[in-house]
Amino acid sequence: ALMITDECINCDVCEPECPNQAIALGLEIYQIDPHKCTECVGHFDTPQCVQVCPVACIPADPQHPEDRATLWQKFQRLRATA
Ligand code: SF4
Ligand code: SF4
Repeated sequence: ALMITDECINCDVCEPECPNQAIALGLEIYQIDPHKCTECVGHFDTPQCVQVCPVACIPADPQHPEDRATLWQKFQRLRATA
């Protein structure tokens, strides 16, 4: 999963771009739900939130490192429960 750092300026452009509805406004800044973020695997070739973020504050989440196969499995799981 990816994560949003405290450099986020709450510009709101990433939230509607997420194909998994993984992004939501938290207490102070936007946050990514690591259980929903597939790093856009299954939907797009590149993470859409990273593409649009004007301040480049969306790195990989060190608490949730995942390889492509794991992300693909998450995509399948999310699709099954959608
Ligand atoms: Fe959503 Fe993709 Fe960003 Fe993850 S990488 S939060 S799935 S837009
Ligand atoms: Fe924050 Fe970047 Fe999303 Fe804007 S696009 S709300 S700066 S994470």
